Amino acid sequence: MTEPPNALPATDVNPTAADESTFPAVSAGAVFGSSTTPSTAASTGPSTGPSTGPISGVGLDVPGTAVAVGAHPDDVEFWCGATLARWAAAGAVVHVVICTDGSKGTWDAHADTAALAERRAIEARAAAARLGTTGEVVLLGNVDGELVADRATTERVAFHLRRLRPDVVLGHDPWKRYRLHPDHRAAGFLTVDGVVTARDPHFFPQQGVAAHRPSELLLFEADEANHAEPGDPQWLDHKIGSLLTHESQLETTHFYRVGAPADRAAARAAFADDERRKMAEAGRPFGLALAEVFHRMSGM
Ligand SMILES: [Zn+2]
Repeated sequence: MTEPPNALPATDVNPTAADESTFPAVSAGAVFGSSTTPSTAASTGPSTGPSTGPISGVGLDVPGTAVAVGAHPDDVEFWCGATLARWAAAGAVVHVVICTDGSKGTWDAHADTAALAERRAIEARAAAARLGTTGEVVLLGNVDGELVADRATTERVAFHLRRLRPDVVLGHDPWKRYRLHPDHRAAGFLTVDGVVTARDPHFFPQQGVAAHRPSELLLFEADEANHAEPGDPQWLDHKIGSLLTHESQLETTHFYRVGAPADRAAARAAFADDERRKMAEAGRPFGLALAEVFHRMSGM
């Protein structure tokens, strides 16, 4: 992509707090330029702006710290669980940020959504522990299905990125075509806008936290994957185990699908086989037996 320097968008956001009126406006979904573009990219992207482009490689060095941002409880495990488990086992501090409360993740029209949100928070922490992560699980608590990449929520994401100071940020690809769920789209924009506003000190200076620039951005659920992180059966097992801790999601997301086997054990096995197949298919273009794939952007 090309990213013109200092390409700030028009100010189309009305600050809701008086002390925000002196700060640069941030449009949801906008792409921001920067006059400082470090040349640390390993890929063959353009010379200005973050590097991106076709196949950029396989396997980053294990980061010291990573932050994965998901729309709902279980998205991080689905899209990058094996990678996070491997990094955590190698010593990385892995934090998980979950944007919504997951309160609409049921087909039961009479469900107590407040109780469901509480349960999903507990499951999210258990799932992160099952991956072996030692960092924080940050629950932003926005209402499921109503996530918006607005200025206030961008500021919250930027705050956590500045506070947690990741080398690598992972999040939904906001530019994925033909995706239905609006929360995934919004979470993607919150991630990329959060990275930009966290790195430049004149965004949200009232936070009182030093700006932070991550080295790498890995967008999962990618429209055009250009990077793979290798998996193996050990990390696949961690991924599946963590996904199965989301028990309240077992009907809607995992294996009690319409037409799925009624027998629980058989259904769990079918789910595991499905995840194994997805990682195998993802790895094939990269010459890997198992992989999770991303659109990698470097040199932010
Ligand atoms: Zn989701």
